[in-house]
Amino acid sequence: MIPIAKPQLDDAEIKAVTDVLRSGIIAEGQHVAEFEQAFAEYTGTEHAVAVNSGTAALHAALLAHGIGKNDEVITSSFSFVATANSILFTGAKPIFADIKADTFNLDPRFIEDKITSATKAIMPVHLYGHPADMETITDIAEDHGLILIEDACQAHGATFKGKRVGSFGTGAFSFYPTKNMTTSEGGIITTNDEKIAEKARMIRAHGSKQRYLHEMLGYNLRMTNISAAIGLVQLKKLPNYTSKRQHNAKLLTEKLSNIAGIQCPIVKENCRHSFHQYTIRTQNRDELSEYLKNKEIGTGIYYPIPIHRQPYYKELGYNDSLLITEKASREVLSLPVHPGVTDEDITTISNAIADWGGPKC
Ligand SMILES: *Cc1c(COP(=O)(O)O)cnc(C)c1O
Repeated sequence: MIPIAKPQLDDAEIKAVTDVLRSGIIAEGQHVAEFEQAFAEYTGTEHAVAVNSGTAALHAALLAHGIGKNDEVITSSFSFVATANSILFTGAKPIFADIKADTFNLDPRFIEDKITSATKAIMPVHLYGHPADMETITDIAEDHGLILIEDACQAHGATFKGKRVGSFGTGAFSFYPTKNMTTSEGGIITTNDEKIAEKARMIRAHGSKQRYLHEMLGYNLRMTNISAAIGLVQLKKLPNYTSKRQHNAKLLTEKLSNIAGIQCPIVKENCRHSFHQYTIRTQNRDELSEYLKNKEIGTGIYYPIPIHRQPYYKELGYNDSLLITEKASREVLSLPVHPGVTDEDITTISNAIADWGGPKC
């Protein structure tokens, strides 16, 4: 079986974890601060605040910017549900704008249509590791005085015009095992704003800077020393992982681009795609997915139901018509691209798709 995702863990992570266990400092500890500094350096931001999931990073980022009741945040419905849930947690309302058909990211044209007097922030998602159109989105945010919070949970190492995602506004990354690097569960907030970093640190620890002095309502969102130790090892490997993902993506596109009915992912000018996912489009997505499963090739559908169509969001009254998002959710299929995929695996995958005798469009 060629799995769709596989965390890359070896003796280095095992040693890092056992060292922490032997030290006895298993919750808060020095590795967390080291990891924050290393990740901030990697992203090109002044600060990073480590938390216990990507969802927590988004939630704390919104709260640190003071977003809450009666506020609106414009985001994408073509994402993992955590993107919009983090907005709901604060009491604010997610407003969904449609995406671009080629990058699957927020289309700036549709963002402008959704701005009202209640709009406080824009939350672009760098889906699959392809950066959103940060030039136009940054301009829109500046023109309208809006906060920019980037859901970079899938985009470690992606750049737009040479600048790392997560450094345009306040960034949120995830370190879940399927992501480009992992800490088991984990997440991090990146920012150049010292006040936002400080507030996020307070929100992470029950609203306190000083132990047992609570200045605001906070949560327990802390990253453990064990997770941070894994993260330090993984961060060193991230550049190699990203190169391997890009190599695999290039090979896949070379072999798949001439097959009728298959549309390969594109990389826009000025963008560095970190290929969290290699996502093709096809009219016969479900058949192809089933066929590949029988050939022991894992695939993924991210995401089969857009957020605004989820039962809970329907209950909240969402009834948007987002035609590009909805079409994408019917056609996307992600193929294995992670660093554990070999050139031989790529040949197996592409030959299987070339031989596919199923219904064609
Ligand atoms: C994974 C992911 C999240 C949430 O991260 P967790 O670490 O699973 O909480 C949020 N947004 C996107 C786009 C993601 O892919």
